[in-house]
Amino acid sequence: ATPTALLVGTGRGAQLGILIKGPEVLESTRRVDTVVLDKTGTVTTGRMSLHDVVTADGDHETEVLRVAGALESASEHPIAKAIAEAAADRLGALPAVDGFANVEGLGVTGTVDGRQAVIGRLRLLEGRGLLERDGLDVPDELRRAAAEVEAVGRTAVVVGWDGRARGVLAVADTVKPTSREAIARLRELGLTPVLLTGDNATVARAVAVEVGITGDGITQNAPGGAGTAGQIIAGQIIAEVLPADKVDVVKRLQAEGRVVAMVGDGVNDAAALAQADLGLAMGTGTDVAIEASDLTLVRGDLLAAADAIRLSRRTLRTIK
Ligand code: ADP
Ligand code: MG
Repeated sequence: ATPTALLVGTGRGAQLGILIKGPEVLESTRRVDTVVLDKTGTVTTGRMSLHDVVTADGDHETEVLRVAGALESASEHPIAKAIAEAAADRLGALPAVDGFANVEGLGVTGTVDGRQAVIGRLRLLEGRGLLERDGLDVPDELRRAAAEVEAVGRTAVVVGWDGRARGVLAVADTVKPTSREAIARLRELGLTPVLLTGDNATVARAVAVEVGITGDGITQNAPGGAGTAGQIIAGQIIAEVLPADKVDVVKRLQAEGRVVAMVGDGVNDAAALAQADLGLAMGTGTDVAIEASDLTLVRGDLLAAADAIRLSRRTLRTIK
């Protein structure tokens, strides 16, 4: 009877757009008690748009957008695509970039029109050992602008060249319409949700509130502790985690005795998906994430994560 029940379970899974790697996966779904959710592309659509450009005194918006757009044209990040598209729409052809370099989870650098330019998180522009050269000066007005952008739940992208930050670009993503209900269902299944992101704490908190994640459980720090690789800002929000450190967050939760499911979509998430007791990949995400996971959610919808766990548990009960 066992093999038949499994086939029924996985057949129904396929109907719901849930692909299960193998029968052994079902057992993990019974034990999981914590679900780590990657923010960008999993809880949110990952489709960003540019809302605003603020410049420092003496710098022109067009120039800031031109350099920002040129740098970001060479990057694959969703934030980069939004900025490059907006710049091309407004300004037409953008200048070429020399010596482009990606600083994983922080931003990019390159030379545009002979200017050594940097774009990304404020932390990256400030240097702090993250750049191969000295950091840039950041005028107070831009610091304030960045804080205001983040206070309303948008991501502040800072761009600068020739030793000084020149502008702040406000970029925003939208929460998927089904994320809130999906998280409520995951809770009903007895799972504690944890929001994990490389983005800043304010944006993370805004998204968390929107989807109904509020602290009532985990209190341990993300790797590196506050202000370095990760900073915990509330019970179940882990923000400012560099891509390479996502896997350590999963390990920490496991070391606390938790059995962890992880839902992600990006190349950045692959190691964490593989480390998790149950890895679920968004079918709309990258192949690397799908390969590293146990379950694939074809629709790219978080509701399917709850369906997958419920269905797998029910299938196990049928077998036993
Ligand atoms: P997430 O964990 O939410 O999927 P990432 O790890 O990809 O996010 O990126 C973390 C942060 O690094 C972004 O929120 C952004 O502030 C910054 N960043 C990364 N790449 C870029 C880029 N090309 N341009 C501007 N900012 C970037
Ligand atoms: Mg992501």
